Amino acid sequence: MTGAGENCGEGEIFPPYTQIWKAKTPLKVKIFVWQAVLGKLNTGDTLQRRCPYLCISPHWCALCNKAGDSVDHLLLHCPFSLKLWETLLQEVNTVWVIPEGCFELFSIRIDALGRGKKANILWGSLMQAVVWNLWLERNRRIFEDYKGVGVAELWDRVKFWAALWASTSLAFKDVPYPSIMRNLLAVVS
Ligand SMILES: [Zn+2]
Repeated sequence: MTGAGENCGEGEIFPPYTQIWKAKTPLKVKIFVWQAVLGKLNTGDTLQRRCPYLCISPHWCALCNKAGDSVDHLLLHCPFSLKLWETLLQEVNTVWVIPEGCFELFSIRIDALGRGKKANILWGSLMQAVVWNLWLERNRRIFEDYKGVGVAELWDRVKFWAALWASTSLAFKDVPYPSIMRNLLAVVS
């Protein structure tokens, strides 16, 4: 992976808790991400394993209506989710090799915004906002009378929440969240 035109340390691997628990995101979001990397979310495949004699419905992914509903598919490999990740990476001029799963996603260092304090905080918020909003979108489509939004609208939500969370940290105390939303790269330089 390369970020902001420089080597981002591809292959540098560390335990996922390092970046999950240090992030400036709400506790409920961190707990959700932690469960995701451990593969412990209540997606269709997990529920079906727990209740083999029940027919869990829907058992397909609510975002693409094609593949099975599993954590790694939903948050990473689903065509809808991949487009959201690609939108984020394009906005910060970064390319990547798609990780194998959520554990790898949160175990590999991605220096898309650089290595400063602001960059670490904002990148951590963005990654967690992506998976959190994919999960909310999936649940609303399944449990509510809701048709869903496209990638562009979900990306706006991701940017809003990531900017809001980052703006509550000391490092961004003089930067209002709309400024962060407007230009992710400029606010960390
Ligand atoms: Zn899907």
